[in-house]
Parts: sequence; C-alpha cells; structure tokens
Amino acid sequence: MAKHRVVLLPGDGIGPEVVEAARRVVDASGPDIQWVPMEIGAIAFDKYGDALPAAVLDEIRKCGVALKGPTTTPIAKGHVSANVRLRRELGLFANVRPVKTVPGLETPYGATDLVVVRENTESLYAGLENEVAPGVITSIKVITEVASRRIAKFAFEYAVRWERKRVTAVHKANIMKMADGLFLECARQEAAPYQGRIQFDDILVDALAMKLVRNPGQFDVLLLENLYGDIVSDLAAGLIGGLGLAPGANYGTDCAVFEAIHGSAPDIAGKGIANPIAMILSSAMMCHHLGDTDSYARIRKAVRTITSEHREWLTPDVGGQGTSRSLADAIVREVERRRTEKVED
Ligand code: NAD
Repeated sequence: MAKHRVVLLPGDGIGPEVVEAARRVVDASGPDIQWVPMEIGAIAFDKYGDALPAAVLDEIRKCGVALKGPTTTPIAKGHVSANVRLRRELGLFANVRPVKTVPGLETPYGATDLVVVRENTESLYAGLENEVAPGVITSIKVITEVASRRIAKFAFEYAVRWERKRVTAVHKANIMKMADGLFLECARQEAAPYQGRIQFDDILVDALAMKLVRNPGQFDVLLLENLYGDIVSDLAAGLIGGLGLAPGANYGTDCAVFEAIHGSAPDIAGKGIANPIAMILSSAMMCHHLGDTDSYARIRKAVRTITSEHREWLTPDVGGQGTSRSLADAIVREVERRRTEKVED
C-alpha cells in the first residue's frame, strides 16, 4: 500500500494541463503516493449539477491532502465558487502564498521574498449580499475575533517555523474601524507572545500596494483578511513575473489543499501554453507537508535550474517559446537527474 493517498483535482480551464504536469514531477521525485483523481469545477457541474460534489469533500477528509487545479466561477451570476465552498467546508482557514523572485526571471521590481498569509473563511467572501431596495445592494463584511486570532497565530507560528523575521498586518482600519479594527487588534494581541523573536508592524492596504511596487524586498510575512489577501497576492505574483510562477496552499486543522494562486485562465485553456511552474511549486509545498523534504527541495531546485539555465523551455507568459508539456518534461528530467542527490533548498 502507498504511504500517502492524495486526492487529485484537475479542475477546469488550464487546470488539467498544469495539474498533470505537477503530478508527473511529483512522481518523478519519489514520494510514495496513490493519487485519487476526482472531478470538480465546471466539468463536475455539467455532469452532476454540483461543482463540488459531496463525495470529493468526503475523500479529502479521508486522505487529508489534495492537489487542486483551478475552477471557473461564473461572473455576477450562477453557482457559488467551488473554491470558496471547499475552503469553508474543510475548515481550510489559512491560505499561504509564498512569492519569491525566480532565478533567471528577475524583474524591474527588485528581489522579492515574501509570504502572503490570508484568512480564508470570512470577510466579504461570506457571500452575504442583499438587495435592500431596488438598485441598492449591500454586501456584508464579516470579521470575527475567533478567525482573526486564529489566522494571526498561524502567521506567527509560520514565521517561527520558516525562520522569517517580521509579520506585517494589513488593514484599512482608518475607514472600517470596527471590522478591520478588530482584525488589527487581534493581530496585535497574538503578536505579544512572539515579541523578541518575530517583529510585528501594520500598514494600510493602499499604502502597502504602493510600497510593494516600489520595493517589494522590504516585506516579509504579510497577514491579511480574505479579500485583501487575494488582491495583494495577485499583485505580488505580478512583481515576480506573473501568475504562472506563484504557488499556494490552504491549511486547516485536519486537511490541506495545495493549489496555485491563478485561476482557470479561459483565455489560454486548451492551447498547451499554460505555465505549470506555479502548480509544480504548489506540489513541492505538498511534498513538504507530507514530510518529504527531499522532494520539496529537489523539485524547487529543478525549477530554478530550468528557469535560470534553460529559458528555451519556458512558456510564453515568461518570455519563452515552450509549451506546458515541454516545460514539464524538462523539469521531470531535471528532477530525475537529481533523484539520488541530497539537495539543499
Ligand atoms: P486567471 O488567474 O485565470 O488569469 C489571469 C491572467 O493570468 C490571464 O491572462 C491568464 O491567461 C494568465 N494566467 C493565469 N495562470 C496562468 C498560467 N499558469 N500560465 C500562463 N498564464 C496564466 O484569472 P481570471 O481570468 O480573472 O479568472 C478566470 C477564472 O478563474 C474565473 O472563473 C475565476 O473565478 C477563476 N479563479 C479560480 C481560482 C481557483 O480556482 N483557485 C483562482 C482565481 C480565479
């Protein structure tokens, strides 16, 4: 019997292309995984009338881990996002999105090495919208002490574990004095036990956006509520070269789901040019979570080698002429070449 069972969710759009690439890279690296493929997103909706069938949630609860591709959510109509439901149903309260300059793909913004820690269960994603009068809609932002304390504590524990130096709470408490005020107050209180080990400060989200673009290297761990976390992580991904490079993970108490920041990219779906690196780096994070730190380091090293020494294999979004397939092949070969080596991350 395999050591790990992992639910494999290709999703839709470019999902199947990049998830297949990541699966091949993980298998080449060595962890003993039995994959459990299941359908979510538009494909599942068309087949079962549900973009997130209950059987998928049950299987993730059983396995504890999933590798997930993006899913499409209809804009301004249609079903509730399968992603939002997945995170809520499985209690995946922490969304971790490391954004780090990729060797060989340096950008004008300067060296970046930051981690977005995003609260994943509430804020405006609560989906509480009402038409209170014709032409008047309210959308309710929910911030609770329990969730704010939980994500703040997670950010500080993450900082300790990954040897980061500083946590910056991001908010708009000058305007949303109660909601963002509570988020900030919780972060301050959770910071107290870490004094002397992890620095703590805070910043308005608008000022953060400007400072990120001027000098992203000044930030370390960013702690944000749900919506700001989503926007800031896309912005940060842009600073290192785009969404095709930025991985992510969703952690709860019992389960973890690994997925890139990017969406289903309908504009390039099926063309074979989606960049699989973000999903491959997400799968490296999954290997680390499974306790296989060698595969984590090996996959990351293989990606770095290809981006810095073999730009001809890269996909068009980062200036190459390769395809998802040729890039994945190159990374698989690099991982296989290093399979017996001890690699330092
Ligand atoms: P998107 O992230 O899909 O795409 C934004 C831009 O980045 C597009 O130009 C796209 O071509 C490009 N891009 C994204 N990933 C890329 C990759 N791997 N390689 C090369 N280029 C890449 O965002 P969008 O277009 O705003 O959203 C499309 C759909 O995805 C929507 O239905 C949205 O709800 C959904 N979405 C899903 C998730 C998720 O499943 N976690 C996350 C974000 C958006």
